[in-house]
Amino acid sequence: AIPLVIAISTARAARAGILVKDRLALERMRTVDAVLFDKTGTLTTGKPQVVGTVGAPETVELAAAAEQDSEHPLARAIVAAAPSVRRATGFRSLTGRGVRASVDGAEIAVGGPGLVRELGATVPDEIAAQAGPWSAQGSTVLYVLRDGLVVGALALADAVRPESRDAVSALRARHVRTVLLTGDARPVAEAVGAQVGVDEVIAEVLPEDKDSAVADLQARGHTVAMVGDGVNDAPALARADVGIAIGAGTDVAVESAGVVLASDDPRAVLSVITLSRAGYRKML
Ligand code: ADP
Ligand code: MG
Repeated sequence: AIPLVIAISTARAARAGILVKDRLALERMRTVDAVLFDKTGTLTTGKPQVVGTVGAPETVELAAAAEQDSEHPLARAIVAAAPSVRRATGFRSLTGRGVRASVDGAEIAVGGPGLVRELGATVPDEIAAQAGPWSAQGSTVLYVLRDGLVVGALALADAVRPESRDAVSALRARHVRTVLLTGDARPVAEAVGAQVGVDEVIAEVLPEDKDSAVADLQARGHTVAMVGDGVNDAPALARADVGIAIGAGTDVAVESAGVVLASDDPRAVLSVITLSRAGYRKML
């Protein structure tokens, strides 16, 4: 049998656009003292746009050719920005790092600074001079490599949701530690973190390591809620004391979460806490 107080609070939850999949997760929410937010698609809109290019004139076209079979939002933005998309063969996705493919007989790789390091390449000075300020402003920088050499770079801006800063400050006012968690490069993560005002920034985390970041916070004694939208957030959502999938989310994210938010407004996390605390007060 479902206890009456829980039945009442889940009905209230549904009206507030909060789908409670796991009632125990909703109960645990009142004890949560740390909230981890995924960056892309959660604190930001997740709809990046190419806002700058540097290097070889064909940088965008080469990148688009290599990215055309990738589902990643960064890939879609690059394809949308290219005037035309050339044929590519041998596409490979390097999860959380980038993509590779053959274009016009050349081996093209597109990815962040981590991928450049991994491939043993270096960024030419004139490209680095552009990329530095881009990432300091919060834009994601992707490098384009042709046959192992960095020939250009792209800046992709993903707007911070206008509600993110309020969501974070309301949590902090309740003495909840706020953490931004992302696979993106550290300077970009720091810039977005400063814009939204989080207590801590964890960057350059590979998709398979996001759940370790949750476990680390738990090991530091925190009861942790993880808020995310993507496939790569699923293990972290499952590991958290309360996993919260935001917006439409991906099916995997929704499956792994205990609580699903109908909206993509990160302030809804506050409503989950309020609801959880209200339910608990009724039990006393
Ligand atoms: P987040 O944790 O912010 O959701 P991801 O784990 O999806 O980010 O990606 C982390 C990083 O991996 C990106 O910032 C980018 O550098 C690189 N990356 C991921 N997918 C691609 C792609 N299709 N093309 C180029 N780079 C990519
Ligand atoms: Mg995401």
